Amino acid sequence: MKAWVLEEPRKLVLKSSAPTEITENQIKVKIEEVLITNSDFELYTGASKHKYPFIIGRNAVGVVSAVAGDNPFFRKMDRVSIEPYIPCEACDECKNDEYEKCSNMQELGYNCNGLLQNFIDLPYANLHRLPEKLSNEKALFVPYVAFCLNVIDELNLEKGRHIAIFSSTKTGIILAQLVAYYQAVPVFISNREELLNTARDLGIFYSFNPEEADVEKEILAITGGRMCNELVLFSNSDFNMKDVYSVSAVNANICLAGYSNKESKLSVAQICKKHLNIFGVYNGAGSYSSAINLLVTETVNVDSMIGKIIPFDKLNEEMEKISSDELILKSKVVKIN
Ligand SMILES: [Zn+2]
Repeated sequence: MKAWVLEEPRKLVLKSSAPTEITENQIKVKIEEVLITNSDFELYTGASKHKYPFIIGRNAVGVVSAVAGDNPFFRKMDRVSIEPYIPCEACDECKNDEYEKCSNMQELGYNCNGLLQNFIDLPYANLHRLPEKLSNEKALFVPYVAFCLNVIDELNLEKGRHIAIFSSTKTGIILAQLVAYYQAVPVFISNREELLNTARDLGIFYSFNPEEADVEKEILAITGGRMCNELVLFSNSDFNMKDVYSVSAVNANICLAGYSNKESKLSVAQICKKHLNIFGVYNGAGSYSSAINLLVTETVNVDSMIGKIIPFDKLNEEMEKISSDELILKSKVVKIN
């Protein structure tokens, strides 16, 4: 087995280890492709703090290489998407079968070793079979779509309702496509011109840069003065919270999406004055099958987000050439042969 181990910021070392034996209910997966996202890159550079040594990588697809016992769900050579969340099965939420709300959730590539390796043994519940029609590259975006589906679940999406999405990354574009699919009206707000252009190309008609447009005025006009009852703010984005409050209706719901360690100052006065309801969504657990379906049917289009391919054995050299700006719209794809 081979794995790229991050020993300190910007120092990846390729390490070999002896093959492992799978235990009951486990499946050995040969990992084929791994996405390098902005979150992974922040771990690599040390911008996000972590204990070392550590293996990064949260989004991957692979092929089943061995199955323990008589598993009725998977066979050798099945292509799979890997769900990186491993619930503890011991907390109250897990005992209530609410695994996606587990209070001690392990996440591969976040709080335990990730997927930049050629083989991994996982419980079969963490794997989702991929339909033939879905390419590996598109399937790497299943975790993004699953995360956005969990955001959608928490919003009150009424037909024709305007949903403001504040995002400095491509995840906002995926969410906007889903909002439109569920017949609400996405209003995409980003300080990144390349993201706004991609959103417009994908039919997200209301797309604004708060540095260039008066977003409050625009939304006042679009909503006929009602403003937005549902808003989503991606936690890794840079926004002035004043813009967020100014487009909120009274009693609005504001979803803070993601688990970036960026801090924002929330105004208690504004939250109270407008009776705002603020809540968080931070993972895509439980929504992988639906996400796969939405990518196969091309309800969500991620073509513009698939970046350059990096060979596995050159990863350490290639990582040094990446800038975090280029990962905002396109993620890199690591191919493992
Ligand atoms: Zn648990």
